[in-house]
Amino acid sequence: MIKPYWKTVVFVTILALLIDVLALAKPYLIRVLIDEFLKNGVEQKEFLSVSIIAYIYIGLVLMENFLDYFNSTRTNIIGESVVYDLRNKMYSYMEKASIKFHDKMPSGTLFVRIISDAEDVYVLFSDVITTFVKDIFILVGIIGIMIYISFKLAMLSFIVIPLIIISGLVLTKLLNKVYSNAKNVRTKLNTFFAESIYGVKLIKVFNRQKEKQQECEKITTEFKETVKPMGYLQGLLPAIMTIIENLGIAIIIWAVVSKVIGANLDVGIIYMFITYLKNMFEPINRMIENVEIVEEAITSIDKIYEILEDETYLENFENGKTLDKIKGKIEFKNVWFAYEKDNWILKDVSFTIEPGQSIALVGKTGSGKTTITNLINRFYTIQKGEILIDGVNIYDINLEYLRKNIGTILQDPFIYAKSIKDNIKLFNEIDYETIKEAVELSSATNFIDSLDNGLDEIAKERGNTFSAGQKQLLAFARIFALDPSIFILDEATANIDTTTEELIQKSVDKLSKNKTSIFIAHRLATIVNVDKIIVLSNGEIIEQGNHEQLVKSGGYYSSLYSAYYNSLV
Ligand code: ATP
Ligand code: MG
Repeated sequence: MIKPYWKTVVFVTILALLIDVLALAKPYLIRVLIDEFLKNGVEQKEFLSVSIIAYIYIGLVLMENFLDYFNSTRTNIIGESVVYDLRNKMYSYMEKASIKFHDKMPSGTLFVRIISDAEDVYVLFSDVITTFVKDIFILVGIIGIMIYISFKLAMLSFIVIPLIIISGLVLTKLLNKVYSNAKNVRTKLNTFFAESIYGVKLIKVFNRQKEKQQECEKITTEFKETVKPMGYLQGLLPAIMTIIENLGIAIIIWAVVSKVIGANLDVGIIYMFITYLKNMFEPINRMIENVEIVEEAITSIDKIYEILEDETYLENFENGKTLDKIKGKIEFKNVWFAYEKDNWILKDVSFTIEPGQSIALVGKTGSGKTTITNLINRFYTIQKGEILIDGVNIYDINLEYLRKNIGTILQDPFIYAKSIKDNIKLFNEIDYETIKEAVELSSATNFIDSLDNGLDEIAKERGNTFSAGQKQLLAFARIFALDPSIFILDEATANIDTTTEELIQKSVDKLSKNKTSIFIAHRLATIVNVDKIIVLSNGEIIEQGNHEQLVKSGGYYSSLYSAYYNSLV
């Protein structure tokens, strides 16, 4: 992931080294000051030298912090870039992945991967990597210098290191456990709030505010209880560390005073030694604390790459033929299809639609109507049989080209929180005239004119303030603007008033003219006029023919029609 930024990586590593050299020089300078000047009282003629030392010290501090600033900003930039790459990779995967991937992957999990797992990687850079290289260098430097000054004293002071590491690791392990529990509860919290926001209407309709409030309190209490130990543990860690550090310092002072190490050390050297010792604890503590962040980040990266490296779901948009022009003949030849192994949803389905013909798919809920349109859009791969478009196997046609030529109105039209214009254009370059014309053709003019800002009106999230019929009119405008060769309408069950129904019927008639059209309509007005009606039951075609033929034959369709007819009477 950091390969593209290797130059910056080299740069920050060199910076880290420089910063460490400056940091190590400071205690040495003070030692010189103490042993050469302060110890015997500063004389008049030494003022200049002392001042020079002071200025050098100030210079070191300024330089060190200046470089440190560069080091951390540069490292953060690498982190930001890596997260940027990751998120874009994830998005492009998501777009290239087949519908099958989305069937399997809960949207909540995908959000977590793209948003918070990617964020964990950023924290790895901003909190760990910025300090890690520096800390490693400085530890090596300090240990080296301490041993150089006095091997025995160094060994004595290292006694406390295992204590620090063991107690640090134990505490962070405990913290880690609390942290991962909290993460689980947080997912619950997320799901609860997201669902409550989406389902707010339902709660009101069924008057369940009180029950939901209780549920909310239960979950938030659980969260509070789960994170409670975190506060105690987080406070404990620095306290224990400080005690152990001071124990280390005490050991050194004791060793010097009681002369167990034998040598007579200058005050300055003892000062320098203790300062280095303190400087050594800092990076060790930091590393121990960072273990958790590293673990988190590794888990997150693993989870992200588990998705990115699974190529089985990727759709191939590059290969495949393009035809001169799709005329719109569609053939299903003995098609067998199951979403999941052996659970056949379509069984031996065969039918032909000639170019420009319109057909209707009729059948009970769950009989496989939407599934047929999914297959024409090549969202899934069939197990047996063949689907041909203009005589060419659908799986040999270039996918982008195929979908460009099919205009589908989905069962539940999705509206983006963007302007009406953008919702019709759908990220395509379509000129204003074409949009106007599409609106005109789709009979959406009245509706759009009634909005304050017309085509520039910004829709609310998921088109929440529009009626179901209005959303469908917009969906029609999309198709008119695209002008595909094949038109598919998967209509939601009747939630449309008679006036809108007439408007929609007009659009349907205009759209299906000269186009191969497939309707899954519940309104008989649409069905009666089509060239062919295909009746499905449990994934099998049980009747085929036009309206008159089917009514005469007295099968499922005729009973459906007479029920409708009787209701009218
Ligand atoms: P409706 O009139 O209610 O829209 P339909 O005829 O369009 O019904 P389909 O959506 O084609 O029905 O569903 C046919 C069958 O396939 C159903 O039993 C459904 O449970 C199943 N099914 C649909 N989509 C999937 C999917 N993505 N994964 C697994 N099974 C699915
Ligand atoms: Mg359906």
